[in-house]
Amino acid sequence: MSRNTELFDRACRAIPGGVNSPVRAFRSVGGTPPFIARAQGPYLWDAEGTRYIDYIGSWGPAILGHADPEVVAAVQAAAVDGLSFGAPTEAEIELAEAIIERIPSIEQVRLVSSGTEATMSAIRLARGHTGRPKIIKFEGCYHGHADSLLVKAGSGMLTFGNPTSAGVPPEFVQHTLVLDYNDLAAVEAAFAQYPEDIACVIVEPIAGNMNMVRPAAGFLEGLRALCTRHGAVLIFDEVMTGLRVGPQGMQGLCGVTPDLTTLAKIIGGGMPVGAFGGRAEIMAGIAPLGAVYQAGTLSGNPVAVAAGRVTLRRLAEPGFYDALHRQTGLLIQGLVERARRHGVAFSGDWQGGLFGLYFRATVPTSLAEVSASDTDAFKRFFHGMLAEGVHFAPSAFEAGFVSATHDDAVIQATLDAADRVFARL
Ligand SMILES: *Cc1c(COP(=O)(O)O)cnc(C)c1O
Repeated sequence: MSRNTELFDRACRAIPGGVNSPVRAFRSVGGTPPFIARAQGPYLWDAEGTRYIDYIGSWGPAILGHADPEVVAAVQAAAVDGLSFGAPTEAEIELAEAIIERIPSIEQVRLVSSGTEATMSAIRLARGHTGRPKIIKFEGCYHGHADSLLVKAGSGMLTFGNPTSAGVPPEFVQHTLVLDYNDLAAVEAAFAQYPEDIACVIVEPIAGNMNMVRPAAGFLEGLRALCTRHGAVLIFDEVMTGLRVGPQGMQGLCGVTPDLTTLAKIIGGGMPVGAFGGRAEIMAGIAPLGAVYQAGTLSGNPVAVAAGRVTLRRLAEPGFYDALHRQTGLLIQGLVERARRHGVAFSGDWQGGLFGLYFRATVPTSLAEVSASDTDAFKRFFHGMLAEGVHFAPSAFEAGFVSATHDDAVIQATLDAADRVFARL
């Protein structure tokens, strides 16, 4: 029995499914996940000493590469001074100021410990601010696992959603309208049907949780106009895209200004940090200033914010995102070219350090198109690449991530491996 299999068996006895977050269990591709022992730069090493080029990057945070020496040193230095105080610190002001400086729509920000907390709190704040109950989300966008967000579209155009998880009573999602991403007409119809009831629209400005799907031309602008017209709060969930696709997140690229933004992943540099922020007038609704309750024992944790501060400082270095976008482009264009050489129906897209790989001829624009891709070919590609020492996300519905340490040699090694794997497909 291999060491990974041994560990997985042991994990399955102590932890449900052997994992602490479901995608890690490899259920959608089959097989046993490698247990990671350490990581450095673009590489992971598993418990058997096998090295992998990593395109998951901890699902986003590792934009500087794993175990960046400066980030690790900041964490070590902070840890010596105490792990948690439950009292305000100068370090958390500095992270808040750095976020405000980078993302102009954020006038004030509150730190939390995960993306789930950030979106849950932002929605509560939007409801408190407007005094309205209903929210609009889009199918295929993921905003963490708060009860009212674990929902898919029901049958019929404007019916409310059905829970996608056991343990969520239908009553808990009765205020969640679930619409198709990029379908602005459906949003317009929802506002026409409930003009006084919709508190907010929450959207991933580039969808990164149904593989990668870009907003259609005019979609985000249209959401902005509808929210403004109807007095609803526009929330950009940039937990994945913020500081990943560009220096000001997707909002800096598309030029659409949300009222509230949620962040996590990169802003913690690999430590548990989330944040929600936006217009000061709205943020004033949060306790202790306002009537919307929100709190956290470990919020603004000094060790976590130390990692975030260094990460944000490094991302502000001139040319960082140009270089990242170029490296990701080398990877995606190279993969597309090699797939074509071997007659595999394949396409790809990227922005900054975020990418999508699709086993279909053209880049998808909807969840339906992503779902219609060849998931069988993906599975064979995934396992073929893993055997070659390249670790992509273990699902056809996840985006991929490139870090600043994925240099030309790392990309070339990936493309050489892909050439062999595509040839066998
Ligand atoms: C990852 C993610 C979340 C949830 O963040 P967690 O830290 O896992 O709770 C929310 N929204 C988006 C867009 C994400 O990608």
